[in-house]
Amino acid sequence: MKQCLYDLSFNDLSSWLREREEKPFRAKQILEWAYGKNAPSFAAMTNLPAALREALDEAFSIGPIEPAATSTGRDATKLLLPMPGGGEVECVRIHMGGTYTACLSSQVGCAVGCAFCATGQMRCERSLDSAEIIQQFVTLRGLGEPISNVVFMGMGEPFHNYSNVVAAVRRLVDRQAFGMSPSRITVSTAGVAPMIRRYAQEDLATELAVSLNAPDDALRRRLMPGVARWPIADILSACAEFSKAHGGQPVTFAYVLIDGVNDDLDHAKALGELLAGQPHHLNVIPLNPVAHTTMKAPERDRTWAFVHHCHRYRLNVSLRRSKGAESDAACGQLRTNTRLETPEGAPSITEEEAPHDHQPGRNPRRDSRAPKADGSRGGGGAGQRGRSDQDRSRPRHRGGGAGRRPRRD
Ligand code: SAH
Ligand code: SF4
Repeated sequence: MKQCLYDLSFNDLSSWLREREEKPFRAKQILEWAYGKNAPSFAAMTNLPAALREALDEAFSIGPIEPAATSTGRDATKLLLPMPGGGEVECVRIHMGGTYTACLSSQVGCAVGCAFCATGQMRCERSLDSAEIIQQFVTLRGLGEPISNVVFMGMGEPFHNYSNVVAAVRRLVDRQAFGMSPSRITVSTAGVAPMIRRYAQEDLATELAVSLNAPDDALRRRLMPGVARWPIADILSACAEFSKAHGGQPVTFAYVLIDGVNDDLDHAKALGELLAGQPHHLNVIPLNPVAHTTMKAPERDRTWAFVHHCHRYRLNVSLRRSKGAESDAACGQLRTNTRLETPEGAPSITEEEAPHDHQPGRNPRRDSRAPKADGSRGGGGAGQRGRSDQDRSRPRHRGGGAGRRPRRD
């Protein structure tokens, strides 16, 4: 297997060029093509001598991966990509608020085995290397729009593949590579406490999200067996360390709301007791149905009661409302964020990035209108779809007690 160009730093490439007695300025040109212009191949690097292009092509791979399947919804394009090192992963381009977010996978499958997650039903086949992670980004970018945010919320547990995920994040923020702002990158973990501590010490100022999903260890063990060895108290103290190391930056806690499982008002109260004392943002996400379970999301009123109760317990909370299956969006998991306004005396409701808007592990079906990996589209790709459906419900919650019915506008 050829080495992937995205694995090379500026210095690596410079020494390769030096060995071949090429001019040093070629390194900058090549990286500009690779990162700035998203060149699909070395042949496209028209200001390089033909012999150099051929030598590069013999030594390295570059460019997007041809998807094995694609599904296109109104706000999301989901690709199933065969990975060079084996296995298939999904990645998604999400369109929200006029910007595009790439949702990337870190592993083929996942060992955590969450009861509510489609990926959790697969065993973990392997971890991706950093180039395979970057290739997902390159392929999504090749769909034709600039991507301003990245979330590690696809298949796999990023902190079970720590070094490759961190290397990929470094490549994304490297000014000589993609040059993204770290604040536009979110790494989401199921709660591998020692790795949260390690990540806190990296010189990377990305966002951190933790999938909490239960306010007590017994329930969490049932829902997320593969991370049961780290008690919630340990995870929260690791998160507090992360916040402290990053100037008080809040950690986002994801809470997938499951009817009759973790959606009691007592659960909301317990969450308040757990989280209110440290920098946090709580994202309540009604469960998206998964094939193998009978679990479902609570009814709307029950969901809102839960969210209001969290708010009453001084949590900075958002509800991400499922928009259900789109016409032919096989991922069917498109959602928007709904924010509560701040009632008097309550903590502020923080702005939420638009992270995970699909459910990991549900394979897109094959779609004849699949965008090609070189960026061209068959008829009707994501960029040609209808209006961008913002559909943000913003409940009013003035002077606020819980239980007060939110108004939508
Ligand atoms: N393994 C990491 C990152 C990938 S999962 C983690 O768990 O954080 C990304 C998110 O998808 C997690 O927050 C998870 O709780 C959520 N998720 C998984 N299955 C879901 C489902 N059926 N409905 C709604 N959200 C789900
Ligand atoms: Fe793995 Fe995250 Fe899915 Fe749990 S929610 S099985 S940790 S991908």
